[in-house]
Amino acid sequence: MKPVFKEAVWGGRKLRDDFGYEIPSDSTGECWGIGAQKNGDCEIAEGTYKGEHLSKLWEEHPELFGNEDGKYGKEFPLLIKIIDAKSDLSIQVHPDNAYAKEHENGSLGKTECWYILDSEPGTQIVIGHHAKDEELMQMVEEKRWKDLIREVPVKKGDFYQIDPGCVHAIKGGTVILETQQSSDITYRVYDYDRKWNGKLRELHVKQSLDVIKTPFQPAKDQRSITHTEGADLEHLETCPYYTVEKYDIHGTWDHVFEAGFVNASVIEGEGSINGRKIKKGDHFIIPADFGTCSFEGNLSLICSWV
Ligand code: ZN
Repeated sequence: MKPVFKEAVWGGRKLRDDFGYEIPSDSTGECWGIGAQKNGDCEIAEGTYKGEHLSKLWEEHPELFGNEDGKYGKEFPLLIKIIDAKSDLSIQVHPDNAYAKEHENGSLGKTECWYILDSEPGTQIVIGHHAKDEELMQMVEEKRWKDLIREVPVKKGDFYQIDPGCVHAIKGGTVILETQQSSDITYRVYDYDRKWNGKLRELHVKQSLDVIKTPFQPAKDQRSITHTEGADLEHLETCPYYTVEKYDIHGTWDHVFEAGFVNASVIEGEGSINGRKIKKGDHFIIPADFGTCSFEGNLSLICSWV
């Protein structure tokens, strides 16, 4: 895949310095590695379909994705991003499918998950809040953000599932790989009263209060590791919208991919897959029913499928 880059007021230059991407500026926030949304429709970088957009391939070649019967939907269902937060992102929340369908022109809601690729010492992130049911509206109205917002320390290798209705924010000094439903509906709860280019950013208080779940309950930790010859396989998450796993490959590892398509991102190291070189920062899709992939090298991948 050929990634799409997004500049952001909170972005930095780690996507170039750490991943070797050619980024548009020193405030680049996101690398959309695998995605087919209108505002970030990745191209195929090489091979038979070089230059084609993923959305077109999804439509015209459903057999590549195991989607001949349309079971994965009309649009490519997931979006894989690497995010470089130099400063704090606004505190936000996403709706679920039902709310988005009703209030956002039939759009999908958004469930997402974060694998922490890097974080500077002492960094925290926001996951959840401290309000009891009846307190939420009052705390928001009184702007008691310090009491409301639940901050947790974060380190490389941590993983968080963010369900709809969960208040969250990535804070400055964090680099993450995000796997998410392909939706862009975000409600901004609070932006630290910051001015960007002289202006406050719009908040979506009503929608946020509609969708924030109380009391906050952390997602269940599903992590488990299986050690095999050549690779350690870690299950990170299975939810109704995706499964995410991490593969740490050391040496030679053969794996049979026999169901639907698989999104893969190399997050560390380098090596090869069926003789084709891959390295940190590469994103690719393994087609449905592909069969055996032979990996070689020392590398870590994050893979996802629906
Ligand atoms: Zn989010």
